[in-house]
Amino acid sequence: MLICFLDRRLGVVSIARMKGPIPLTHTLGFPRVGERRELKKAIEAYWQKQLTRGELERVAQELRRRHWLVQQQAGIGLIPSNDFSFYDQMLDLTCLVGNVPLRFGWDGGKVDLDTYFQLARGVSGGAEKTGGCGCASCQTSAAACEMTKWFDTNYHYLVPEFRAATQFRLSSTKVFDEFSEALALGIKTKPVLIGPVTYLTLGKVHDTENPQFNRFELLERLLPVYVEVLQRLEALGTEWVQLDEPVFSLDLTSEQRIALATAYVTLAAAAPKLKLLVANYFGGLRENLPDFLRLPVHALHVDLVRAPDELDAILREFPKNKLLSIGLVDGRNIWRTDLAAAFAKLEKAAAALGAGRLLVAPSCSLLHTPVTLRHETKLDAEFKSWLAYAEEKLAEVGTLRDLLEGGAPAREALAASRTALASRAASSRIHNAVVKQRVARVVPGDLQRAAPFPQRQAEQRAKLRLPLFPTTTIGSFPQTDEVRAARARWRKGSLSTADYERFIEAEIADAVKFQDEIGLDLPVHGEFERNDMVEYFGEQLDGFAFTENGWVQSYGTRCVKPPIIYGDVARPQPMTVRWSAYAQTLTRRPMKGMLTGPVTVLQWSFVRDDQPRRDTTWQIALALRDEVLDLERAGLAAIQIDEPALREGLPLRSADRADYLAWAVGAFRLCAGGVRNDTQIHTHMCYAEFNDIIQAIADLDADVITIEASRSGMELLEAFETFRYPNEIGPGVYDIHSPRVPGVAEMEQLIEKALRVLPPGNIWVNPDCGLKTRGWAEVKPALRNMVEAARRLRVRFAAEHKAGISS
Ligand code: GLN
Ligand code: ZN
Repeated sequence: MLICFLDRRLGVVSIARMKGPIPLTHTLGFPRVGERRELKKAIEAYWQKQLTRGELERVAQELRRRHWLVQQQAGIGLIPSNDFSFYDQMLDLTCLVGNVPLRFGWDGGKVDLDTYFQLARGVSGGAEKTGGCGCASCQTSAAACEMTKWFDTNYHYLVPEFRAATQFRLSSTKVFDEFSEALALGIKTKPVLIGPVTYLTLGKVHDTENPQFNRFELLERLLPVYVEVLQRLEALGTEWVQLDEPVFSLDLTSEQRIALATAYVTLAAAAPKLKLLVANYFGGLRENLPDFLRLPVHALHVDLVRAPDELDAILREFPKNKLLSIGLVDGRNIWRTDLAAAFAKLEKAAAALGAGRLLVAPSCSLLHTPVTLRHETKLDAEFKSWLAYAEEKLAEVGTLRDLLEGGAPAREALAASRTALASRAASSRIHNAVVKQRVARVVPGDLQRAAPFPQRQAEQRAKLRLPLFPTTTIGSFPQTDEVRAARARWRKGSLSTADYERFIEAEIADAVKFQDEIGLDLPVHGEFERNDMVEYFGEQLDGFAFTENGWVQSYGTRCVKPPIIYGDVARPQPMTVRWSAYAQTLTRRPMKGMLTGPVTVLQWSFVRDDQPRRDTTWQIALALRDEVLDLERAGLAAIQIDEPALREGLPLRSADRADYLAWAVGAFRLCAGGVRNDTQIHTHMCYAEFNDIIQAIADLDADVITIEASRSGMELLEAFETFRYPNEIGPGVYDIHSPRVPGVAEMEQLIEKALRVLPPGNIWVNPDCGLKTRGWAEVKPALRNMVEAARRLRVRFAAEHKAGISS
């Protein structure tokens, strides 16, 4: 090890002398949670008062130290600081600039850690529940700041709030403290801050008196705080500061362009000794390139993983007085880099600008990848050779730089990358000719139900015989401790498969009995057999792998361990039929089968990078299509295909959206297209903006869509005032994030609201989302009330409904 290390250092030294300056390496950020999720565990223990503030600080400090040293040992030249966070980097910035919303009663001093956590979790405490349906809204309480997705990642940030009267002032020393902390270890870091325009863009105006207030007016009040921060960093001896402005990957308004230009003129002049690096990532610059290149800063970072084709344009236009940081290693995925391809780009850039004007980096912060492959003990060596987590990506960045000098270790690393890539490209574990052919042979007819909706509706009514305002649920019932414990015992081998299955059957039987008792019209089996709505399917499909430690931060202390879709997806055998068919034997009412849709499976996984996402999605869709047909054959008259993540996949640029929506909608239709007219296809979506994709939702052509609506008081229905949704729809009337049991009258009123914009014959009555995070003690009375609300409305509207059907 040591010899190899020395070799490399010697190689660098001698060749550097021959060839002149070499590029710096840097990273834009490192995962902070720790290789064993130490930070998550410590913060949660602190919340539960099992850890003192001092103990928590020590865990954090040790993690920062470890992460700086790991990067230093990997030969990274410019190591970031302030990429650490106790919850979220946007929240850190909110506290740095003193933008604490009024409702937290902050006294204006330094924002302390407890106030910080209050912004994240709400003051009432106890708002944070573990688990949830997978969406961020699961965790927010009324008083906490809203959470939303960070660009097109699965990371959620806390949304800054702005008012016309918002004033900013330096209110945290975190960025300075962390710089000094690293300096004490002998590492002069590059502090990282989110840039002012990204900060303003991603916030929301919360100002009832001035709802139309333009947040960019706040820029001139915000900039002085940035100036102060930069000056203090300069005084501390900082050399480089990174300002993240990923808004450059979005469609920019002229106002944002002006804000960007003005902001950086001010910031560049603020601290003349500092080298400012502005980073764009998550997409190409496209028409924003001239604005980006004009920024009066020392260096600019571009994401060449997301926008590999932009290199030529960038090099052509790149200003002579700047350095270029090129992101060549994917910070968003777990695949080993094609070093030969990445190096070709680096060489081209070096030829155009000179190696000394380059910085080599991952495409974005490594926050979005797991920490280290070292703890993956169950993946075989071949599979592991295809992967690179954050630590392995550091080595790749170093190799790319070293390759410019042609040292032997770098050449060996390049050869190893070639071998791994070739093994992946040729592996029979990945490529399944039958699956590829099947996707290639999909014809438009496969995406089409046999008859248009009105005819299907008539046939389904004849078969299902459901009343007006039919009641249903979204699929899952409480995942109690007993259910989890049984699954854990079964996985460990201390419960036999036969006993586990009997246990699940008993849970299903109870759930069906309850639904029958309260008179729920379209019952479900309850999803007791599922740990997670994606993992359950991934585990049964070919082409998916699961990691032991592939954790990435989703928000705050919540981490997710996405499956890896590495190969062609095929379904060796039915996945859900056994349970749904069993449930159907227990009741005379029609049972609803329950599947996770192809786009959601894709979005919540690490996806293979060797074929278009569309192809992978359609492979999943074909596997699900077979499952749908098997369910139909087994006697399920209604089948729900959940697509809560459809909106998440929407590209950042509007120009790319139509293409995405076409294949994403196509994938859903491919799942559903093969069933008979009288089989009712449901879908479900929740916790996202739907208004801008409402046409695509209609294009799914699901017979019924259930959608979260109660939480926003049916706000989503505004979309239906102008858009006539053609099929049946169930706007949620029961907020499943709250333990509160909604009353009958309250739910009746929500349906009445829906009736203002939707025809009575098309309305379903259901909760907002699945009930797996709730307890039976709340679920039972809540669903009883829900069924009663539907019953009362039915009485009032029966006459109208009859008229509607016969006309
Ligand atoms: N069928 C799933 C459930 O009920 C849907 C969950 C979701 O929309 N996230 O749990
Ligand atoms: Zn949902």
